[in-house]
Amino acid sequence: MLVIGSHVGFNKKTQLLGSVEEAIKYKANTFMFYTGAPQNTARSPIEDGLTLEALNKMKENNIDFSKVIVHAPYIINLCNEEKFEFSVNFLTEEIQRVNLLGVKYMVLHPGSHVGLGIEKGIDNIVKGLNMVFQNVKDTNQVIVLLETMAGKGTEVGSKLEEIKKIIDGVEDKSHIGVCLDTCHLNDAGYSMDKFDEFLNEFDSLIGINKIHCIHINDSKNIKSSHKDRHENIGFGTIGFDNLIKIIYNERIDNIPKILETPYVEREYPPYKYEIEMIRNKEFNPNLIDLIINQK
Ligand code: ZN
Ligand code: FE
Ligand code: FE
Repeated sequence: MLVIGSHVGFNKKTQLLGSVEEAIKYKANTFMFYTGAPQNTARSPIEDGLTLEALNKMKENNIDFSKVIVHAPYIINLCNEEKFEFSVNFLTEEIQRVNLLGVKYMVLHPGSHVGLGIEKGIDNIVKGLNMVFQNVKDTNQVIVLLETMAGKGTEVGSKLEEIKKIIDGVEDKSHIGVCLDTCHLNDAGYSMDKFDEFLNEFDSLIGINKIHCIHINDSKNIKSSHKDRHENIGFGTIGFDNLIKIIYNERIDNIPKILETPYVEREYPPYKYEIEMIRNKEFNPNLIDLIINQK
């Protein structure tokens, strides 16, 4: 089954219910959200009433809650020794909050080593993740998904070998997995027009069963550019046909596919239109104009 959705908002007033309602507007059957602003630590307490209402809304609309995704805030950087303690504490709290919501998967950027070197960066991530899993071990239902990165700056995790090393170092293997991102993979140097070959490589190194989420984004830049600038579906260098082949690849059927493509003119969410194109498997070259005119 095609499980497709997008990044949606989450605010303190409507919480999970607001996120679900936004996903329904896009005709999505899954979604991803941050539990607060991704760039700061302000978080409001979870209200059970809103969560319960959200769960009912999901049932009515055939949204499988077990496939909903949270994205950890990107201020967490377990690689960076200056931010290490803060990152361990904040990730611990974030996992506790996500456990309260009942969400199963949390995407995490491995981090940036900021000059320490990849090896040291990986050691720090492993150490940090083991501390976090130790902190939450009695109650944790959340599986942390390491996202494959573009390799911008000193980012760790743009090579599958690096992701593998992190997973190898994590003691609690049942709580660690991977989130692919097509834009990041392209920018890191993997050929998105040969996705089956990529999956073979992934399977022999890490195992396909570790993939629990895929970010579907086109890229503004060419392969190996190490840039990380997302583009709307079909308007970038990966292209519509390659993205459709990835989305409908049987080996990753049922795995939630999440759009993180840019808002049109920074204002209008493209997701309803992109999801429609993906379901129809037909590219609309006038999509951007259509979105601007229907605003
Ligand atoms: Zn991400
Ligand atoms: Fe992503
Ligand atoms: Fe990105």
